[in-house]
Amino acid sequence: MALFKKKNYIRINPNREINTQDKVNKPYVPDNMWAKCPNCKKAIYSKNLGDEKVCTHCGYCFRIGARERVCLTVDKDSFEEWDENLTTKDPIKFPDYPEKIAKLQEQTGLKDAIVTGKASISNQEVVIGVMDTNFIMGSMGTVVGEKITKVFERAQELTLPVVLFTASGGARMQEGIFSLMQMAKISAAVKRHSNAGLFYITVLTDPTTGGVTASFAMQGDIILAEPQALIGFAGRRVIEQTIKQELPEDFQRAEFLLKHGFVDKIVPRNELPLALGHLLSLHNSKEAETK
Ligand SMILES: [Zn+2]
Repeated sequence: MALFKKKNYIRINPNREINTQDKVNKPYVPDNMWAKCPNCKKAIYSKNLGDEKVCTHCGYCFRIGARERVCLTVDKDSFEEWDENLTTKDPIKFPDYPEKIAKLQEQTGLKDAIVTGKASISNQEVVIGVMDTNFIMGSMGTVVGEKITKVFERAQELTLPVVLFTASGGARMQEGIFSLMQMAKISAAVKRHSNAGLFYITVLTDPTTGGVTASFAMQGDIILAEPQALIGFAGRRVIEQTIKQELPEDFQRAEFLLKHGFVDKIVPRNELPLALGHLLSLHNSKEAETK
């Protein structure tokens, strides 16, 4: 039956060595030429994603590294990194953890899951922190906790606002209780910064979950989110099993949270620097008025 006859597809082996002759005779697709959107599942020509890495079909913002994010957000050459070399001391002696950390440090060029420092956005000085999901899913251990706490403490000393980009799977289980205590430690620093009358903006990016959502991600004076970002505390399946109910399709997405009042505004990635600049200038002018 010709109808069911298998078509003769050409197999593409990404690992094969390509010689010049091959390129002439057979179709050649380089690695990473196409990307698949995790949200709408459509294929996108990688170059069309642009520097911002946004799906051209549905507007989903692909996950990007902390340093890329800093480049996209702050004024050119304005970033001064803080605590660059802070690294974990493996507080509960978790098996194979130091090896895992060493490997990731080599792969990512980061010492842990966050990059912090001082910069300017639209010519306004801020302290900025950006989490990175490439490092154990942006999980919050002692280093992330300490660096964020320092962000707030130094911002308070310098009387500067804070902008934090969150992206995390939650607490880092390899650091046990020491991870969980970071929630309280950071929250206390956020409160002191707030009591000093200083401004704090969080930008929730895909995914912001677990202990990060349960603490500083939701403590911003203004909470922004990227389109389609997954934001929640416990996972969908865990909640469904607990409450024995089916959850809506868009549950835990930024749009759902906006509808229910947890998020102030959803801002597309390419508009974020402008939106942040606008919010910072509004706050600065108000501060000037009260002086
Ligand atoms: Zn898409």
